[in-house]
Amino acid sequence: MDFEKIDIFGNGQHPIVIAGPCSAESEEQVMAVASELVGKGVTLFRAGVWKPRTRPGCFEGVGQEALQWLARVRKELAMPVSTEVATAVHVEQALAAGVDLLWIGARTTANPFAVQEIADSLRGVDVPVLVKNPVNPDVDLWVGAFERLYNAGVKRLGAIHRGFSAYGEKFYRNAPQWQLPIEFRRRLGGIPMICDPSHIGGKRELVLSLSQQAMDLNYDGLMIETHCNPVCALSDARQQVTPDELAIILSRLVHRSADGVNADFHSYRNRLDEIDDRLMELLVKRMGISREIGAVKREKGLTVFQPFRYNETIERYTKICTDGKLDVEAVKSVFEAIHMESIRQQLRIVNDENQ
Ligand code: PEP
Ligand code: MN
Repeated sequence: MDFEKIDIFGNGQHPIVIAGPCSAESEEQVMAVASELVGKGVTLFRAGVWKPRTRPGCFEGVGQEALQWLARVRKELAMPVSTEVATAVHVEQALAAGVDLLWIGARTTANPFAVQEIADSLRGVDVPVLVKNPVNPDVDLWVGAFERLYNAGVKRLGAIHRGFSAYGEKFYRNAPQWQLPIEFRRRLGGIPMICDPSHIGGKRELVLSLSQQAMDLNYDGLMIETHCNPVCALSDARQQVTPDELAIILSRLVHRSADGVNADFHSYRNRLDEIDDRLMELLVKRMGISREIGAVKREKGLTVFQPFRYNETIERYTKICTDGKLDVEAVKSVFEAIHMESIRQQLRIVNDENQ
């Protein structure tokens, strides 16, 4: 796939701001939110018409009828509108109602049959489509959805990073795992990246800091759930902000330039490169010793993985992080990665008949 930087709306606005309620609940609610958003720097109105809920019995959206309310927003407030589609029928009904942009939700992106059905229903239609990351942290699955749409001739595409679901007690509703959208952008550089801090954070108090983080990572836009009376929202009540709060969030964002060419980082970067070279040299040396140990394990018939040794290494280094200069979790993942590579190399030695 050969993507050039796609300006989905053709107006170069930065950042793109998509705002509106999680769900279209009633005609009055949709018109009230949209009217309050006028003049607040919003590029596009959003509202979910068909809501994929985790459990049955939750509010599942009003359905087709709500498309007429979006059509009113478009006509009376001159604001382009967007909604989530999950089937070919949704696409057909949304396009018939004049919806300006469609997005594919996280649960749908995770299902290649559904994405293919949507892609096929969009053949020959020039409408921008945004694709949320799949609920599971799988960059290939996310990229695959873009390939399906691109192959069907949909060229105005954008990605939405809404975080990844995880089991257990958690700070974020959906863990951001920023390294995944970074990897996505390395692979599909031309695709605009929009952050959805509402679904990542799951709490309105986190929307500003997550939006700032997205700006600092050079994202192209934000999708922020906005409701006139968030606590009474029929879906995602904890994470929606009012239109006035949205305006405050947007005004507080600090925009930094992504253009590092003119800044003089030369000497810093040379120093970093020197350290990285030394780290690499040490890693190569360390793996050499690991392979020697592998040969001994092979000779003595010992298992490659020795749990006490692994626990000892992790504990030793995480204890040293108490002064706050390094994050314990970050150090732990570095040593986990080193240990995994040692194991991989030793497994080759233990299992190689020719050693
Ligand atoms: C939404 O945007 O309201 C939504 C359902 O999001 P997601 O697909 O990210 O869960
Ligand atoms: Mn929502």
